[in-house]
Amino acid sequence: MAPKVRASMGTLGVLGLELVQMDTPPTTAYLQIFTEKRCAANCLFCAQASGSQADLMHIARGMYMPADLESVVLRLKMAYQKGYLARACIQTVLYGEWWEDTVYLIKRIREESEIPISLSVFPLADGPYRELKATGVNELVIPLDACAPYLFDKIKGKGTGGPYSWDRHMDGLKRGARIFGKVGTHLILGLGETDDEAVSIIDELQKHKINTALFSYTYVRGAQLSIEPNIEESIRHYRAVQLARYLITEGMATYNDMKFSDGKLSDFGVMRDAIIRIIEEGKAFQTTGCPECNRPMANETFSKIYNFPRIPNKREKEDIIKELGIQE
Ligand code: SF4
Repeated sequence: MAPKVRASMGTLGVLGLELVQMDTPPTTAYLQIFTEKRCAANCLFCAQASGSQADLMHIARGMYMPADLESVVLRLKMAYQKGYLARACIQTVLYGEWWEDTVYLIKRIREESEIPISLSVFPLADGPYRELKATGVNELVIPLDACAPYLFDKIKGKGTGGPYSWDRHMDGLKRGARIFGKVGTHLILGLGETDDEAVSIIDELQKHKINTALFSYTYVRGAQLSIEPNIEESIRHYRAVQLARYLITEGMATYNDMKFSDGKLSDFGVMRDAIIRIIEEGKAFQTTGCPECNRPMANETFSKIYNFPRIPNKREKEDIIKELGIQE
């Protein structure tokens, strides 16, 4: 059987392998190694988890369709040359042959193209990290997903019967950062964490050269976790953490400069004028993560955008001011 890979619908659209209408095309090719098995881990929010009943083709809102690996690799080369795509992002799944399948995909991409490659993977030993780097991985990402150890245990760790632990993830991130020079992680907001918990971990990770990409919790039909959010509070929380993350990563404020009341951000540690200026610029509310990653509509609906895949427009910036509860 010819080797396959999963690719997001938007990616297949940019590669010309599916006809897809998009107002904002992805700037990164979103791929996942192909298996028809469920993942051996059991993250409760994930469609592919061992205990999930959800369709294997989902990652959050995205549909990842099986595609011919060679066609994807060759078109990726052309899309990178023409400037349509600036990065390839590979998601992994834990099953018997995951290492061989992952290395094969990375090698095939690298044989054809110099496109930067991000790899999202669970913690590994130093040897495999070095091998991945030598094979062609530019950005290593180890998703923590939860903002605090107690939440990790509940949705991804021992509470799920899965193999992961907060300490091993943190250790993997720190070792990965030493080997790659820097490393990334994903945090899902909306799992029950407070502003305080989210900002505190972002600040701590930043000190270890660990860049955070923010995601909004998205219910997937058939997944084990189902949280019905209060939309108004979830967007306030998301905007507050986006702004705090931006201040931390830009070196404008730290967690210790900020104040919290009942877990909610009450003072960002900078002047109000600076916040208005940041909203005007809009960058703080764009998708975060690896360079050139815009993940259009990964967590969003047209009525509620958490991560803007472009600079927000004037009306969207006015909404952000309201969502943050800032008086004009
Ligand atoms: S930040 Fe974007 S490119 Fe990087 S691993 Fe996450 S989804 Fe992929």
